[in-house]
Amino acid sequence: TSFSDLGIRKEYIKALKELHIEKPTEIQAQAIPVLLQKQTDLIGLAQTGTGKTAAYGLPILHQIDPNKSEIQALILAPTRELVQQIQKQLFRFTKYCDYKIFAEGVYGGEKIDKQIKALKRTTHIIVATPGRLLDLIDRGDIDIENIKTLVLDEADEMLSMGFKQDLNRILTFTSGKRFTWLFSATMPEEIQKMIKTYMSPKAIKI
Ligand code: AMP
Repeated sequence: TSFSDLGIRKEYIKALKELHIEKPTEIQAQAIPVLLQKQTDLIGLAQTGTGKTAAYGLPILHQIDPNKSEIQALILAPTRELVQQIQKQLFRFTKYCDYKIFAEGVYGGEKIDKQIKALKRTTHIIVATPGRLLDLIDRGDIDIENIKTLVLDEADEMLSMGFKQDLNRILTFTSGKRFTWLFSATMPEEIQKMIKTYMSPKAIKI
């Protein structure tokens, strides 16, 4: 199979080709057709290096309505490095789009004023570490009420780094209207509990 067979639009195929991403990895082949066609919660058991960023990132890019200026997707990751890496990949994927999709990175250790200023511009996707995201929500600088999709990347890492309460708050804020795509290298009991509490029992597992 090719990315085209999976339903990826040609402007993205062109960018992927330049990045030497031509044959879908296993997780991409499994996740992409499902996420493009169905509105569903998804649980992905995946290590880093398996291509999971593109597996969820490309379907998110397909979902965004660039004509709306509101935040439509939220991606949570455990570290600043990972947030920056995800944001960079999304940016690269959109190189040949004749519309603009804006993804903003939000993480601790950076001046909050600088991030607030950046968020005043149109932002379609937020990539964030949980703590800093909540700071910005509490200050009223980010509104995630209209998000359609919430991605938890490296969910087990986020829990082991102490983000459990933060994640619970974020999941509660956005509950009901959005779909959750959870990726984790391991599925300890705490993750199972999160899945039971916040995700649909009909969630697709890959
Ligand atoms: P990730 O697991 O998402 O962190 O991706 C790991 C690395 O693999 C990144 O540098 C991607 O650009 C690259 N990659 C992702 N998907 C593919 C693919 N289908 N073929 C080749 N490289 C890929």
